[in-house]
Amino acid sequence: MGIIGYPLGHTLSPAFQGAALKHLGIDATFESWPTAPDKLAEKVASFRATDVLGACVTLPHKQAVMLMLDTVHETAREIGAVNWIVNGSKGKPDGKLTGHNTDAPGFLRSLKEEAKFDPKGASAVVFGAGGAARAVVFALRMAGVARLTIANRTVEKAHELAASMSKGRFRPTAAGLSRDDLADVVPYANLMVNTTSMGMAGGPAPEETPVTADLIRAGTLGYDAVYAPLETPFLREVERAGGRTASGITMLVYQGAEGFTLCTGQPAPVQVMMEALMRARAGRK
Ligand code: NAP
Repeated sequence: MGIIGYPLGHTLSPAFQGAALKHLGIDATFESWPTAPDKLAEKVASFRATDVLGACVTLPHKQAVMLMLDTVHETAREIGAVNWIVNGSKGKPDGKLTGHNTDAPGFLRSLKEEAKFDPKGASAVVFGAGGAARAVVFALRMAGVARLTIANRTVEKAHELAASMSKGRFRPTAAGLSRDDLADVVPYANLMVNTTSMGMAGGPAPEETPVTADLIRAGTLGYDAVYAPLETPFLREVERAGGRTASGITMLVYQGAEGFTLCTGQPAPVQVMMEALMRARAGRK
């Protein structure tokens, strides 16, 4: 097993996936496979070998790999992105590749089990309209949020995402990130999810937050998909406003746990994975 992306310098996946394989005594490794876009097709074809259980997929390949697989699972098709490729099923590779998206269930599990928040009936604001936003908006639709606004720097992309995720009575609205735009929605939300790269260490805007404390209602849950650092500028603003906070670090583990199970056919040792991830993070500081 392994992870493909480009560049791959930041990945923590080998540390916690490797720990899970070892813990269960599975005779396999989890490797880091930096793969440039022009080598992607060749690399994905190599996953058909009988000694490859599958692979995790990260930026920038989550869309491109979809054209290289035999089947794309319905959830991944609707989200428009694959973050796991499985050879065969349940630990039995057969040369047929299926694409899955485990970011959406990973986010929901993290929201419910770690943040103790049931999104059913919630009023939510999602900041961002990229790949992570697609998975989060899909997950919130599945979970039955009542109202949702997608707020993004490039407002056209927020409109596009809102339109593509609209279904039945679920009709997200779109907004920009200006103070005026956010003042119409943020004070009425009881859930906010940051899926922009703002606040991400090593990213384009590590010191920035999509919203400030003065607009946030006390008691609101602020969830940050960004997991490095654990305490982001966005989460600090939520705290200042008297809200609750949750880091995307558990989303990372839960999406990985689901991918692990799809590839190996075994229940993932989530606690072991979480501890290995925390050790790997600490070792890197
Ligand atoms: P992406 O597809 O490249 O989207 C990036 C988003 O961030 C876009 O909405 C973009 O807005 C916005 N953005 C970037 N720089 C900005 C800035 N300076 N000011 C305002 N907005 C800015 O990336 P992604 O895959 O969605 O990932 C986004 C974040 O989520 C990353 O930090 C990633 O690590 C995290 N993530 C976490 C998990 C997890 O398991 N916890 C899973 C997936 C992703 P524009 O449209 O205007 O460019």
